Amino acid sequence: MTELATPPIERAQDVKRISHWIGGRIVEGESGRSGPVYNPALGHQTGAVDFASPEEIDRAVQAAKEAFPAWRSMSLSKRTAIFFQIRELVHDRAEDIARILTAEHGKVLSDAMGEVARGLEVIEFCCGIPELLKGDFSEQASTGVDVYSIRQPLGVVAGITPFNFPAMVPMWMWAPALACGNSFVLKPSEKDPSASLYTAELLKEAGVPDGVFNVVHGDKVAVDSVLEHPDIQAVSFVGSTPIARYVYETGTKHGKRVQALGGAKNHMIVLPDADIEMAADAAVSAAYGSAGERCMAVSQVVAVGDAADRLVKAIQERLPKIKVGNGLEPDVEMGPLVTREHRDKVASYIDGARDQGADVVADGRESAPDGDGFFLGVSLLDKVTPEMDAYKDEIFGPVLGVTRVGTYNEAVRLVNENPYGNGTAIFTRDGGVARQFQFDVQAGMVGINVPIPVPVAYYSFGGWKNSLFGDTHIYGPEGINFYTRGKVVTSRWPDPETSKVDLGFPQTR
Ligand code: NAD
Repeated sequence: MTELATPPIERAQDVKRISHWIGGRIVEGESGRSGPVYNPALGHQTGAVDFASPEEIDRAVQAAKEAFPAWRSMSLSKRTAIFFQIRELVHDRAEDIARILTAEHGKVLSDAMGEVARGLEVIEFCCGIPELLKGDFSEQASTGVDVYSIRQPLGVVAGITPFNFPAMVPMWMWAPALACGNSFVLKPSEKDPSASLYTAELLKEAGVPDGVFNVVHGDKVAVDSVLEHPDIQAVSFVGSTPIARYVYETGTKHGKRVQALGGAKNHMIVLPDADIEMAADAAVSAAYGSAGERCMAVSQVVAVGDAADRLVKAIQERLPKIKVGNGLEPDVEMGPLVTREHRDKVASYIDGARDQGADVVADGRESAPDGDGFFLGVSLLDKVTPEMDAYKDEIFGPVLGVTRVGTYNEAVRLVNENPYGNGTAIFTRDGGVARQFQFDVQAGMVGINVPIPVPVAYYSFGGWKNSLFGDTHIYGPEGINFYTRGKVVTSRWPDPETSKVDLGFPQTR
């Protein structure tokens, strides 16, 4: 999480320049400010991304505003045809997109392919937009009067996205927004901005008119300009909790509809009756996949009763087999962290936890590969208690904590007392307990013997508590609602026989 605006950085001359996309073409930034983009596996700078000024944000918004009337008026069948074309192009170029993700984020290629596949599901859902925008119709609500509801787009809407899913999270936003007839301004993470530009080119190739989709890069200056711009109707945000809260408060203060998804601390409860081998596989996959840089990563296991010793042993046995390295190498399972600073911050939790009384079962610094890449091996902390920083903070790296409790009730209390409420999971063979858990637990996405319960595209994604500010979850049916406004029409066609003056309040007849 970047607390403050990134300070201006001189653009290195020998690296790729990454510019804005406004009105259907690349537009070089003129603010004189830019930020570095790294290849995390190699540990060196590969790009410099232009940071937009408020004037450049305005330029993108004006392009989107000009494009909106024609896009909104396009027939549903034509817009759907364009969406089918987008679907084909993203499907065909999935590996190209994935390679960009691996180069700038560091996640392994197979994981990057998975990211594109899950984003593609949202695009496919949006191919059904004629069905999704259907309203209700009541014939003869009153004599000679029909009533029907329609949903209409908002206008220019914006998306602000995090570094950890540089393709999928933008797809969660622009796909439903565009399908509903809005035009879009995307401000992607400045850490891995290239996938957004590639997406812009694909959308143009698919037939999306110029100005309907725009990309502006930048830091707090760009975000603040988006939040304050009078011509932006709605903002979707995904990122850390402090910034999500700020975006929600600032955006709504400026009269916008805002959905702001924040950070997480996802607990996985393992009961004594669980299949411990299956639970260990799940914990390892969900904790260390994408180097723990997932908002749905399992970062905290809560082991109940005598499950603890067996589970810690089973997890520990799996750790030496995890291959860490450059995500482009075929057998590598876990890549580097996104930046050197983030890697060092994540690593600092290992000593912190030891100092505060946890057992360091595996120390990722000892198993990190050599080289300049921002690597950290996998870490396992046992006997973590809720007072420790490693428990309280969203570490966002390959560090898994295990907390030991005596009963199911203690485990659920831990989850419910946590300020975050994104995802959670329970591992058990007892259907009755699982059902009780689903009833009791305070989180937006629940897994039963499923460690990463990211909803499929025709449901909506979102957490509770400090993991979501705003009322609407993202993508799926709630995404369609977010990007549209309802209108109800009450209609009568002239019938001279029933026409008369009536000053009373309209009643059904
Ligand atoms: P971040 O909050 O640092 O950045 C997110 C966006 O906000 C970026 O576009 C960034 O440029 C902008 N930003 C950063 N600092 C800002 C500031 N001071 N003022 C205004 N804008 C600012 O998040 P990140 O580090 O890119 O992503 C990781 C975080 O995102 C984690 O906390 C993770 O849990 C969360 N996340 C949540 C979900 C979810 O669905 N809930 C999904 C993915 C990631």
